[in-house]
Amino acid sequence: MNDSAADDRSGSVDSGSPGAGEGTRAVRAGLPEAVKHEPTLPGPVFAAHYHLPGEPTGPYAYGRDENPTWTHLERAIGELEAPGRDDVETLVFASGMAAVSSVLFSQLCAGDAVVLPGDGYQALPLVRSQLEAYGIEVRTAPTGDDAQLGVLDGARLLWIESPSNPGLDVCDIRRLVGAAHARGALVAVDNTLATPLGQRPLELGADFSVASGTKQLTGHGDVLLGYVTGRAPETMAAVRRWRKIVGAIPGPMEAWLAHRSIATLQLRVDRQNSTALALAEVLREQPEVTGLRYPGLHDDPAHKVASQQMRRYGCVVSFTLPTRARAERFLEALRLVDDATSFGGVRSTAERRRRWGGDAVPEGFIRFSVGAEDPEDLVADVLRALEESAG
Ligand SMILES: *Cc1c(COP(=O)(O)O)cnc(C)c1O
Repeated sequence: MNDSAADDRSGSVDSGSPGAGEGTRAVRAGLPEAVKHEPTLPGPVFAAHYHLPGEPTGPYAYGRDENPTWTHLERAIGELEAPGRDDVETLVFASGMAAVSSVLFSQLCAGDAVVLPGDGYQALPLVRSQLEAYGIEVRTAPTGDDAQLGVLDGARLLWIESPSNPGLDVCDIRRLVGAAHARGALVAVDNTLATPLGQRPLELGADFSVASGTKQLTGHGDVLLGYVTGRAPETMAAVRRWRKIVGAIPGPMEAWLAHRSIATLQLRVDRQNSTALALAEVLREQPEVTGLRYPGLHDDPAHKVASQQMRRYGCVVSFTLPTRARAERFLEALRLVDDATSFGGVRSTAERRRRWGGDAVPEGFIRFSVGAEDPEDLVADVLRALEESAG
């Protein structure tokens, strides 16, 4: 953990945002100015169109372009992704994939080259074939050891996912950004796993921070959402235009639920991440567990780089059990942990990743998302399930 990390955690004053520690910032993020008799966080605005007599000026004209509930949420996310900076813009989307696609498809044209992680989110191969169908060259390299450096020449955009999902490898974002910018390439970072409280890609030099808000940002497993935060007005205008023409917009109810959830983001992230570390430390002692990964473990291969750029290490722990059957029995034996995909929710989930076929992981590979249960209860449940699933 570096010094700025320690400062932020103790909730001390952040130079970028006077008087506001991270928890304070999270509970107040994006709130409008207080108005007598109005709620603190205004409820969702359900509107396809707005009163608009005369010349069509001002932000709110049609519901596919703008909504006041999005505006509050976009401000909130911007304050967390880039505290103290008013030169950034955030746009919310119907899902993480809508946000991911908005950057890739608005920034790339036929003849461009893009660098994607070879070990990233499982929908990226689908995106890859669509990009290729549009005449865009796609190169891939693994996240670990900054391997993407080797394929940057001539690329228009570098896509980083750090920590990667589900392998939890980490790359040196500052270093990759430096190399990409020196070659004239833009850089986008998928910040889903870290959340803006774990990592702030724009401060590491990236042009875009992109994330699925479906995961820990909203954290209750009941909302799909995505966002893009970016700093260059022209590139963000292209992302906005993409949202308008594709129409992948969040409903006002989802946007409002997301904003409501951000108020507890620091509480959830601190609880879930510290339990994830405790669970990883216990799993490390189990002989049947191999390939254990958690960037917050001091001896994890990713820890050194992670500690230079992350302030919190996430709620996902990955490990491998000896066989597929053992992994299935383990998942079945868990009582406090739902066998379900996705991650980041207040209720722990785990799954055998190989069941989807996509990720290049062993049959017994488990992605475990740590929730907000009491750490002792969760660890006891896991140890009991490991024992019951043996033999
Ligand atoms: C889930 C996820 C996405 C896609 O988000 P959706 O909200 O499911 O569309 C993108 N990137 C990462 C790293 C994810 O985990």
